[in-house]
Amino acid sequence: MRFDAIVIGSGMGALCAAALLAADGLQVAILEQNWLPGGCTSSYWRKGFVFEAGATTLVGLDPGMPLWAVLQRTGIQIEAVPLQIPMQVHLSNGDTVTRYQDLDEWIEEAARAFGKHNQRPFWEFCYQVSQFVWRTSLRQTAFPPTSIGDWMQCILKITPEQFWYARYAFFSTEWLLKKFGLHRNRLFTKFVNEQLLITAQNYAPQVNVLFGATALCYTNFGNYYVNGGLINLVKPFVNYIEQKGGKIFLRHKAIAIHWSKEGYRVVAQVKGKEKVDFLGKFLISGIPINNTLPLFNGHMPYKISKRIEKLKKLTMPSNMLNSAFQVGIGFRPHQHLTCIHHQIHLQEPLPEIGSQSIFLSVNHPEDALRSDVPGLAVASISTHVHHPAARMHFDKSVVEQAILERLAALDLIRPDTIIYIHSSTPAAWEKWTQRQFGFVGGYPQYMHIKPWQMLEARLDGYKAYLCGDTTYPGQGIPGVALSGIIAYEKLRRDWL
Ligand SMILES: Cc1cc2nc3c(=O)[nH]c(=O)nc-3n(C[C@H](O)[C@H](O)[C@H](O)COP(=O)(O)OP(=O)(O)OC[C@H]3O[C@@H](n4cnc5c(N)ncnc54)[C@H](O)[C@@H]3O)c2cc1C
Repeated sequence: MRFDAIVIGSGMGALCAAALLAADGLQVAILEQNWLPGGCTSSYWRKGFVFEAGATTLVGLDPGMPLWAVLQRTGIQIEAVPLQIPMQVHLSNGDTVTRYQDLDEWIEEAARAFGKHNQRPFWEFCYQVSQFVWRTSLRQTAFPPTSIGDWMQCILKITPEQFWYARYAFFSTEWLLKKFGLHRNRLFTKFVNEQLLITAQNYAPQVNVLFGATALCYTNFGNYYVNGGLINLVKPFVNYIEQKGGKIFLRHKAIAIHWSKEGYRVVAQVKGKEKVDFLGKFLISGIPINNTLPLFNGHMPYKISKRIEKLKKLTMPSNMLNSAFQVGIGFRPHQHLTCIHHQIHLQEPLPEIGSQSIFLSVNHPEDALRSDVPGLAVASISTHVHHPAARMHFDKSVVEQAILERLAALDLIRPDTIIYIHSSTPAAWEKWTQRQFGFVGGYPQYMHIKPWQMLEARLDGYKAYLCGDTTYPGQGIPGVALSGIIAYEKLRRDWL
């Protein structure tokens, strides 16, 4: 089958790139190995409940942010409900901190919980940096620059403030805490570290100020909820691409990419059936670089195979990555929660996996689409599993038990209200997404990798491009949406 572009994977990064190509009139084929689109941003039905596959929080729909930009360009409509209170954090000292969106309200709350000392200047600085980062991200879509064209684009769009802020890529969030004299505030540093882990996938010493400040201010931008689960963020993208003449092929796993000057032949294994060849002038891989590179197969010009080999050396191994342990619960709520997202710090690290916090999301109380029986609720709980290759399988029941005890102690979910519960290890993530070692959440931030050293969208240096959460800036839905925009922009500038 012949298309203009073959897109591997239907994660949010790939869907953004595919939708933008479709808007330009290109016929796109999306190959998805799973029976559902969306990857880590998806939802599945089980035992009368709709569970989130991975992501639960959603930002990026405010004007000037990546998802907003894709929706503007394509006209895709998403029905999203803004959240009044984006998140609550349950600290290990028993206090609960409400992460208000309004900056002043949040600073007041932070000062109450962590002490007045320098909370205001710290958060005002972080917010200023995060506003700069979002302002710049859609302006500098040639970033990181790797061709003469990219450099020209970057130079044309450079502003004095970009020079000013660039230096913060050399300083860590730990340095920032010291600068504001907050590094000895144990409660606050733990709060910062656990917040960074869910947004930047690493702790303050490894997260540069640009990413760190943006990650910490995640809740100071519009947070949204999609009724029926995040599959309803994904479906409008798929519908749009199909209306434009593209097609999504579910249960089609790309197993090889053959290169030729005319384009790419991608071999897909159809689940339980034969292999099918897809031909495309362009290729977009929306799966992790760890999974993409081994697909390159057969004869390639020396320059391209050398590039693929060089990229292989840059892929992160398991000990630099994280996976997730997840618990899905269908229950009868005993109270009305004013906030649907909760980060919960633990008094003791979790058995088997050692993580120090869990993240709980419940459905919006006005969303009737998440359970077959009115009045029931759904909870998705996740926690990090560092170095997943070493922890593919473990005793799920002890981790599940420790999580349930903490939820009961906080009176968030009572054990006697649980109707259905299931949990999953990194092995389940590997099966669901095919991601190597079941690693999820993207490449974590590391201080030795500056933003301009992150993997860029050009894959083979020819007509293949990469997006998703292992490519710049690639973390969470807003990050992968931006990576999809950048892959599309680079392809368009290079060839269209
Ligand atoms: C537990 C958890 C909680 C999270 N919470 C949040 C959150 O609250 N907010 C947020 O913004 N982000 C969150 N994230 C991160 C976010 O979900 C991901 O970073 C993002 O969805 C990844 O998108 P992606 O474009 O990289 O593709 P992926 O989601 O990785 O999708 C890739 C797709 O490609 C398919 N695929 C893989 N190999 C092949 C192949 N060979 N052939 C065909 N198809 C293939 C997979 O099945 C998958 O559908 C969370 C992630 C996890 C795991």
